[in-house]
Amino acid sequence: MNNSHEVNEVVNYVNTFMAALETKNPGEHEFHQAVREVLESIAPYLMESPHLMKAKIMERMVEPERVIMFRVPWVDDKGEVQVNRGFRVQMNSAIGPYKGGIRFHASVNLSIMKFLAFEQTFKNALTTLPMGGAKGGSDFNPRGKSDAEVMRFCQSFMTELQRHIGQDTDVPAGDIGVGGREIGFLFGQYKRIRDEWTGTLTGKSLYWGGSLMRPEATGYGACYFAEAMLATRGLSFKDQTVCISGSGNVAQYAAQKAMRLGAKVVTLSDSDGFIYDPEGLTEEKLNYVFRLKNIFRGRIREYAEQYPSAQYFPHERPWRIPCQIAMPCATQNEIDATDAQHLLDNGCLCVCEGANMPTTPEAIVLFQKAQILYSPGKASNAGGVATSGLEMTQNSIRQSWTAEEVDNHLRRIMADIHAACIKYGTEEDGYINYVRGANIAGFIKVANAMLEQGIC
Ligand code: NDP
Repeated sequence: MNNSHEVNEVVNYVNTFMAALETKNPGEHEFHQAVREVLESIAPYLMESPHLMKAKIMERMVEPERVIMFRVPWVDDKGEVQVNRGFRVQMNSAIGPYKGGIRFHASVNLSIMKFLAFEQTFKNALTTLPMGGAKGGSDFNPRGKSDAEVMRFCQSFMTELQRHIGQDTDVPAGDIGVGGREIGFLFGQYKRIRDEWTGTLTGKSLYWGGSLMRPEATGYGACYFAEAMLATRGLSFKDQTVCISGSGNVAQYAAQKAMRLGAKVVTLSDSDGFIYDPEGLTEEKLNYVFRLKNIFRGRIREYAEQYPSAQYFPHERPWRIPCQIAMPCATQNEIDATDAQHLLDNGCLCVCEGANMPTTPEAIVLFQKAQILYSPGKASNAGGVATSGLEMTQNSIRQSWTAEEVDNHLRRIMADIHAACIKYGTEEDGYINYVRGANIAGFIKVANAMLEQGIC
């Protein structure tokens, strides 16, 4: 941007656009936040592209192609009827069939679904694979539910969802609260009603069409991305201290890969608190976490009961623990400005997001002002959906690739996303603005596809 007049024009454009969006979508704070972040990055590019402005590309991108909301009735183990709300937001199909996870969490609402589907559209474009953007879920909370209750809920959820999805239309996957168990129940019901065996869901078990490396992909991919970021400053994971939040799928495999790359991982968390193990996780300790969370569905506090080297901090997030690398892998808005300041004061030099939008806008500003390495989830956690795309390919050609083959694809895709961020995000002083890079690269691909397909 050349002068203050142009800066003002951009600010005015963003504020006017956002005011209209907020009026039209009242109370959807997470959705507003996600759109503003993208818009602030792409506005200068957009305003220099009259053909995109005239075609109202951005106005169309923020309007989901379809929103499906539905009743999910089910019966609990006591014989009582329960009612939840189901969602599928089919945001954008310009570059491929809708693709995006399903989240089961008490906090799920339309705003969270729309923010995730919007982010997913850009993320999927960055993977270079032909996948549109979507997200779904329910305010069902799997915590404390029996396997039979989870199954009955999943069957009821899929009884409605099945009519809106398919291998060439919309291919859901897992997300918070939806792992291998839930994907199994959902797939079983889909197959039963539709009488077809297709790769309509990804994240499937290896026994029936899943891809090797899919469970690892998001966490590993985030570490590959962090490796590439660190390399721009001549650094690596070796001997660095890493704080990770969450203890679910993404956190577990981010921890495993970071450790295998030579780092010391000292924290994990869940929604009740975090553990700090100054001696660092080991393969043996991480195996305990895998069993604790994936088989026994326990709480992270139990780690500190098992390993006396660790301390448990209830109702706190791990960001005041000194580290060089922070990997938020739990949920949205889990690093605020105070957390960011703690990280910076303690010498953190790289924040690599495994979760979706875990950093608040105020915290992002602090990281960027301090010119540390900071990557948004839509770039650094794209390895999960990319490997889901590879699972779709394997299902279509009726073949299974080796772990090595899938891992090689994953590494290449993460390297390509990093290169795209550098191409579009490098500022005049050499600082790589990964937010801008990821947003512009994703936007250009989707915008051009929309333009070529006419007004639709
Ligand atoms: P999981 O359900 O496997 O794990 C989620 C973890 O985050 C749990 O430890 C959970 O704790 C914690 N958590 C959830 N909500 C909150 C909260 N409000 N406050 C604090 N902690 C919370 O989910 P995933 O690991 O799959 O997903 C984690 C993040 O990564 C999400 O943002 C998701 O959208 C994103 N993501 C996931 C991908 C994937 O492939 N799985 C792909 C790309 C992004 P608790 O047990 O207490 O709920």
